[in-house]
Amino acid sequence: MKKHNFSAGPCILPQSVLKQASDAVLNFNNLDLSLIEISHRSADFVAVMEKARNLVLELLNLEGKGYTALFLQGGASLEFLMIPYNLMKKENGKAVYLDTGTWSSKAIKEAKLLGEVAVVASSKDAAYTYIPTDYQIDEAADYFHCTSNNTIRGTQMQAFPSTKIPLVCDMSSDIFSRVLDFTQFDVIYAGAQKNMGPAGTTLVVVKDEILGKTGRNIPSMLDYQVHASKDSMFNTPSVFAVYVSMLTLQWLKDLGGVAAIEKINNKKAALLYNEIDSNPLFEGAASKAFRSKMNVTFRLTDESKQAAFDKLWQEAGINGLKGHRSVGGYRASIYNALPLESVAVLVNCMKKLK
Ligand SMILES: *Cc1c(COP(=O)(O)O)cnc(C)c1O
Repeated sequence: MKKHNFSAGPCILPQSVLKQASDAVLNFNNLDLSLIEISHRSADFVAVMEKARNLVLELLNLEGKGYTALFLQGGASLEFLMIPYNLMKKENGKAVYLDTGTWSSKAIKEAKLLGEVAVVASSKDAAYTYIPTDYQIDEAADYFHCTSNNTIRGTQMQAFPSTKIPLVCDMSSDIFSRVLDFTQFDVIYAGAQKNMGPAGTTLVVVKDEILGKTGRNIPSMLDYQVHASKDSMFNTPSVFAVYVSMLTLQWLKDLGGVAAIEKINNKKAALLYNEIDSNPLFEGAASKAFRSKMNVTFRLTDESKQAAFDKLWQEAGINGLKGHRSVGGYRASIYNALPLESVAVLVNCMKKLK
């Protein structure tokens, strides 16, 4: 039987998508060829790429609003560098970053290679258990960067600052999970493997009008305009990861889109947080006002019960519940494709612990 997969990433994908993907690896579109052995320039694959890019804009309600969706490589980690390359001015370049966890810190480190970085606020002093909300963004800066969902600590931004400068957001672990006004962002990026597809491709959604203003010579592979001008096929794309992402986006659309999945995500999060708050053997790790609906972090109040709890969930067929190696405790990643029934199985284990 399939396990209840709470893995933080790579993560659970819809079972129907895995089936379609495995069929396509053997025989794609009845071509008597595998998806992964045909030319990425063939009509069959070009159609996949086009559909994937269109589905992104459609699901984010950005169609016809001056945005381009790209499927790139290098992970969200390469975007940490591509963002300053594409947005930070060569002369006196300056960017403002909000530091809300490990991933923000890594983004800050890369941006510093290209210009001045002002960290406008940080929750590092409180072990990243909350999201700072009281800060002023210097509007002379080239852009503001934030991380919508902090995968490791389990915090999530509930609102985004309004600012005149470009707003850039790392949405790796909560993209397509909730309805937002996505037109408030100028660049959104996400590694596929948290909530969209397999590892190997990175989604970048960029507002066209903000590009080409830095005065920098940007290496081709790092230049959003180069990728956009080639319809995300400047070089060989990761065909399998793009295909499976497309299938997952189609699955989401068929389900009713982001608004429909958000309702389910809210139910899953409520069920689990309710147990954490009502069961004296558990406590949440993140500040309540900033709890993530994607990565639920919690601990035992009595560490001596760890072996007993681990046995309970392992025997119930649960996978991937251990907290990030830098934090410890437990982390239940309840991404889009994780069914409500899996959360119910986990809650049942928590109730059984004596
Ligand atoms: C996982 C993660 C990353 C890193 O993604 P890679 O694709 O492994 O480079 C960056 N930001 C956030 C928020 C993440 O969860």
